[in-house]
Amino acid sequence: MPLYGGVEGGGTKFVCAVGSGPGQMIDELRFPTTTPDETLGKVVSFFRKYMSAPQRLEGLGVATFGPIDPVVGSSTYGRILATPKAGWANCDIVGILAKELRLPIAFDTDVNGAALSEAKWGAGQNCGSVLYITIGTGIGGGFYTQGGVLHGLLHPEMGHIMMPHDRQKDPFAGSCPFHGDCFEGLASGPAIEKRWGQKAETLPADHPAWDIETDHIANALVTYIVTLSPQKIILGGGVAQQSHILPIVRSKVQKLLNGYVQSGNVTTESIEDYIVLPGLGNQAGVLGALALAMFAS
Ligand code: ADP
Ligand code: ZN
Repeated sequence: MPLYGGVEGGGTKFVCAVGSGPGQMIDELRFPTTTPDETLGKVVSFFRKYMSAPQRLEGLGVATFGPIDPVVGSSTYGRILATPKAGWANCDIVGILAKELRLPIAFDTDVNGAALSEAKWGAGQNCGSVLYITIGTGIGGGFYTQGGVLHGLLHPEMGHIMMPHDRQKDPFAGSCPFHGDCFEGLASGPAIEKRWGQKAETLPADHPAWDIETDHIANALVTYIVTLSPQKIILGGGVAQQSHILPIVRSKVQKLLNGYVQSGNVTTESIEDYIVLPGLGNQAGVLGALALAMFAS
């Protein structure tokens, strides 16, 4: 069985793993994200033993928080771009790892990785196009389509779409430092916390927070449905673990579509299989990185 490596680079933790897919992982290490030097140093020492036979990796996939430059050939390819995360702006992740590890490296956003792994092994199997949205510390989206993940200028920034915002119902101005009340500014975990003065995971299911949150999520999903036409939508991230919001999101999406999108996937009978939770659970991230490596080789 060919072996691949995956690095899930998150704002709070890094996960490194080696294997060939779900249930076929042979090694894993998790550690907190600190400075780039220290963190990438740990990544290098973990993978060093996999540079030569008999355990040489076919490739290494790196899936990280953004914004990043995933466009091969660009002068800033392989770097984290203008992140507010201290010390990481401009960090040349691929350059540093390639110099030390001499392995083929694939590089993309965490959410593009998750879209790929969910399409390959998870809730998006047998779908030609899969939209993966994470609602956590930030909001981001990755899109698997036509056998690959979507890039453009750089990569999609689906958390920062502008949204209808009923300020009578939801007077919160939004928390995005760039746009105020974009989707992330209205609906990320920190936005919920700022609006209500307590962490999202502590709000009971009957709290008014969830009516507002599901309005915002449904508005965003409808925008993605009419622009990308995904065959499956997967909602990941901490906030989506409030699974009681899923049926509400589904019915609000249907109400907003108002019958316009004539697909069997969005009927009342089938929408339960259309807007779903990740099939790979908390492994989606690191398996996403692994899938990037497999996909590139
Ligand atoms: P990250 O985005 O940092 O990788 P998460 O997806 O867990 O990690 O997102 C963290 C955010 O999600 C925090 O704002 C936290 O309050 C919120 N969160 C985490 N778990 C839950 C939960 N079970 N229910 C609601 N909100 C949650
Ligand atoms: Zn924004």
